[in-house]
Amino acid sequence: MPPRVTLKQGRAKPFFFRHPWVLESAVARVEGDPADGDAVDLVSHEGAWVARGYFNSASRIRVRLFTWDADEALADELLARRVEDALAMRRQIGYDDPAGAARLVYGDADGLSGLIVDRFADVLTVQVNALAIGRRLEACLEPLRRLLSPRAVYLRCDPHVAAQEGLTLESGWLDGREPDGPVEFTEHGLTHRVDPTAGQKTGFYLDQRENRAAAARLLAGRRVLDVFCYTGAFALNAARGGAADVLGIDSSQRAVDAATEGAARNGLTGARFEVADALPTLDRLVARGERFGGVVLDPPKFAKSRGQVDAALRAYLHVNRRGLELLEPGGVLVTCSCSGAVSRDDFRSVLATAAVQARRPVQLLEERGASPDHPVSVTCLETDYLKCLVARVG
Ligand code: SAH
Repeated sequence: MPPRVTLKQGRAKPFFFRHPWVLESAVARVEGDPADGDAVDLVSHEGAWVARGYFNSASRIRVRLFTWDADEALADELLARRVEDALAMRRQIGYDDPAGAARLVYGDADGLSGLIVDRFADVLTVQVNALAIGRRLEACLEPLRRLLSPRAVYLRCDPHVAAQEGLTLESGWLDGREPDGPVEFTEHGLTHRVDPTAGQKTGFYLDQRENRAAAARLLAGRRVLDVFCYTGAFALNAARGGAADVLGIDSSQRAVDAATEGAARNGLTGARFEVADALPTLDRLVARGERFGGVVLDPPKFAKSRGQVDAALRAYLHVNRRGLELLEPGGVLVTCSCSGAVSRDDFRSVLATAAVQARRPVQLLEERGASPDHPVSVTCLETDYLKCLVARVG
């Protein structure tokens, strides 16, 4: 009999409904002595077969479920097939421009819990967040190499995650091939640069792709403030779309330098960038009576866990109130939250409270999420983390 994990009484329902994460707190017992990274069967307290997943005694997610079909085994062919299907989906949605960028594999949303693959033109970055995937990395890479022939592949394994999962992989370029210098790619006709080895620091937020285009459509002809601009992707799209004058602010000097360089590279003279702390700067701009025709708010993840939600909602309220106060009548607010722990309802309520405090009528024009290369698994709503509200202020 294969090793099996039995759930505590009354804890099976989410897993019958295909939620993929079995936390330690739901587990009653483990039988058959599975090694970390091995496949295990998940059974209910009553002994009913529920699903199959990969086991890790070191991880908070004790079992990551990968199939609800009792005939499906954790084999290299299964992983390869899932990667191929993930690539097919990106082709289907038109995210296959060879010069462009896309998330090719998005973990649980692609049935590959613990694996994230991004493509920047012909360079791939592969992020491994689960021991079982680390053990079978070659099976996951084979279809990527066969179908995409990448120039180089960077493996990223966050040391914090590695310690939690008991992973021994180290970040680095695979096969000794590495690009000479930053990698260039295009998005909406703009050229961007990333350093795949630097992760978040000079990475690129692929999930905002469609939101940047949606914002640019509404910001043409306007004076725009892009708050938390990072490397200026919203600002540059707005400038390219005909915004009259764009100011981006970010607390990171590196991000502002990259944004300034990006504006020059793309021949956009109407966008400029400054290093500034967002909250006091917003307060100061309001106090000075400044007005903009458009404001973009894309802060970092204010709530990193459920315990931080209340403090995060207060911070979102502050920046959104100031954002509304800075807008002229008819102005457009593009406001985002990437905190998974903050729900869509909560975020809409933040905007409502901000509207009351700012004493302005606010109309929602669009409720948006991440671009479709970051699909939402309807049975794992943690994959629906990015909220982007587009509103008009009276
Ligand atoms: N809109 C960007 C992504 C923003 S990421 C894009 O589309 O690419 C969030 C950014 O907020 C980061 O660049 C970070 O440097 C910046 N940030 C964090 N705290 C800040 C603060 N207090 N004031 C200004 N910027 C801040």
